[in-house]
Amino acid sequence: MPAKIVVLGGSFGGLTAAFELKRLLGAKAEVTVVSDDDRFVFMPSLPWLIMGWRKPEDITLGLGGILGPKGINFVHEAAREVNAEASKVITTGNKELPYDFLVISTGPQLSFSEIPGLGPDQGHTDCTFTLAQAVKTGQAWRRILENPGPLVLGSSQMVSCFGPSYELAFEMDAELRRLKMRHKVPIIYLTSEPYLGHMGVGGLGLSKRFIEDEFAERDIKPLVSQAIEEVTPGEIKLKDGTKVPFKLAMIAPPFKGVPAVAPLGNPRGFLPVDKNYRHTKHKNIFAVGVAIVIAPPEATPVPTGVPKTGFMTIKMAKVAAATISAEIAGATPPDTGELGVICLMDMGDTAAYMQAYPLLPPRQSSYLKKAVWAKWMKLGFEKYFLWKMRHGLSGLP
Ligand SMILES: Cc1cc2nc3c(=O)[nH]c(=O)nc-3n(C[C@H](O)[C@H](O)[C@H](O)COP(=O)(O)OP(=O)(O)OC[C@H]3O[C@@H](n4cnc5c(N)ncnc54)[C@H](O)[C@@H]3O)c2cc1C
Repeated sequence: MPAKIVVLGGSFGGLTAAFELKRLLGAKAEVTVVSDDDRFVFMPSLPWLIMGWRKPEDITLGLGGILGPKGINFVHEAAREVNAEASKVITTGNKELPYDFLVISTGPQLSFSEIPGLGPDQGHTDCTFTLAQAVKTGQAWRRILENPGPLVLGSSQMVSCFGPSYELAFEMDAELRRLKMRHKVPIIYLTSEPYLGHMGVGGLGLSKRFIEDEFAERDIKPLVSQAIEEVTPGEIKLKDGTKVPFKLAMIAPPFKGVPAVAPLGNPRGFLPVDKNYRHTKHKNIFAVGVAIVIAPPEATPVPTGVPKTGFMTIKMAKVAAATISAEIAGATPPDTGELGVICLMDMGDTAAYMQAYPLLPPRQSSYLKKAVWAKWMKLGFEKYFLWKMRHGLSGLP
């Protein structure tokens, strides 16, 4: 009997785990991906979509079309509950999916409701973290080009993904300069990070000085170590009483674990795992990507979270798949080593390459370089990754 493996989530972690499990186990495993979205969205390109440089169809793939040819089942439903004692997933359509192993890669719940007035649906701010949000933010950005006014972008408290806000600050600055209208649009970068370039990981090499210098040169005004009290139309009120007016505000909300898996997690619903991404309590459950707990390297005055980037998520998914495969084969689980990170940050007219090993300080090595070749790498990576996913491959990185 093939082992039943259920994978929750059809994005970086879920797809990589599913492809890798099928590659390693072939007919020894029946792999089923469950996702509430029937598309894979290449999220690193959402800032480019906002800028009008990409269309949704350029950066999305239908999941049925890529999973089927690999012999992987696809259930287009949300998981409603995981019954860890009975080893089964219950979907919103009331399907019961029993598993021998479960891999959870359900990403974050974007918790707008924790801050009154935050968010694109019930609040007054825009966001960049889903395709639908990015499409809406792109429309708001084009309205700014027609009718300029102050921009505020950044992250609220409890965020654990800072890169896209930095990218958009640089991209919007570059585009406004190209259109000769930068002087009509003040840009504020508002963040819970204790200093610029912290990014939830205590900085990456020279990132503090680097971002400070770049923002000074580009006249992007930073407001660091800030928590948001509430948002009203056209104004963000900070916990210290400061009021920040805006015409367009793109603010990342607090992150939580998604409700279906949150009961297996810490108080914010993130899942505790060991170095092979196995749940610390439920031995046949693995979790990867944004869904897991990584303790921050230091306490910050305003709480921030550690980012789990796409690069990291892919590594985690491969370790989880290799560990499951080894267990099924009765072999020793792989030695995982430390998690490092590579990041390509778009800056509009150029980009920055950042690398750190391990992820959190103190580190063995780190490297940061601003260069046009980093922009080419970023462009090439998008094409490579979408090609790889379209063909059901889990290869590098
Ligand atoms: C705008 C933006 C830009 C980024 N840029 C970069 C970058 O340049 N480089 C980089 O390395 N990383 C980047 N990242 C981070 C990267 O996208 C994430 O690390 C990665 O998407 C995490 O993958 P994941 O599988 O953990 O979760 P997600 O990508 O969040 O996917 C979660 C999946 O689970 C599904 N799901 C959720 N709840 C359920 C449920 N109950 N049942 C079934 N399915 C469910 C969702 O539909 C989705 O398919 C960026 C992120 C954003 C938002």
